[in-house]
Amino acid sequence: MRAKIVAGNWKMNKNLAETEKLLAELSAKLPDTNAEVMVAPTYVNLFSAVRALESSKIEVIAQNMHFAENGAYTGEISADMLLNIGIDTAIIGHSERRAYFGEDDKILSKKVATALDKGVRVMFCFGEELEDRKSGNHFKLVESQLKNVLFNLEPSAWSNIILAYEPVWAIGTGETASPEQAQEMHAFIRKTIAEAFDATIANNVTILYGGSVKPGNAEEIFSKPDVDGGLIGGASLVADDFIAIIKAI
Ligand code: 13P
Repeated sequence: MRAKIVAGNWKMNKNLAETEKLLAELSAKLPDTNAEVMVAPTYVNLFSAVRALESSKIEVIAQNMHFAENGAYTGEISADMLLNIGIDTAIIGHSERRAYFGEDDKILSKKVATALDKGVRVMFCFGEELEDRKSGNHFKLVESQLKNVLFNLEPSAWSNIILAYEPVWAIGTGETASPEQAQEMHAFIRKTIAEAFDATIANNVTILYGGSVKPGNAEEIFSKPDVDGGLIGGASLVADDFIAIIKAI
């Protein structure tokens, strides 16, 4: 059985006091669930978040990490630094990193390789832009995003990979992919992985949907057979909304 996951990507939101307050609320209200629950606060608040959640089931993950082991990379954070404070999962390839920070398949391949080599689990994000979907190119585009970064990995690497399909046109726009669109793409992703590797790997990998997931639409999206949970932006910043989404899985 593959893992179910609900993860909150807080992006560049919440200062220290706000982070502590939200974490306290989430811990207090966390429902009993078989899903893994994760939050990704901003870098400066990661360590305090790890401390605050020491006795909680909520896991702290990072929004990004650098591909180099260490050295002269001003402003960057290494895999070892994350592991050293108790964080073993990092989001890699978020569309905002691709769009605003020039992260392309080549850079992402290096990040994924370093993460896996160091023992950091990768939550790999990808997804098409609106033009790709309008022109019917979305399956091809998603296939190339997967192929260029993940398809040269050893089969054994897949046990440390979580996928997050996030159509760019649905991120922060209030426009969600319909549950049918999400299911169609998730099934395609699984089929593509089965062809490149094998059916067991494809069946075991957790594939999250991200893009305007809210309490009102989470249950229907999560009910789809190939959708194993969600990567939540805006709604994860409000305790009651995030809790409602966790309850929906
Ligand atoms: P929203 O839920 O705000 O659309 O963001 C999704 C996302 O980018 C999560 O990584």
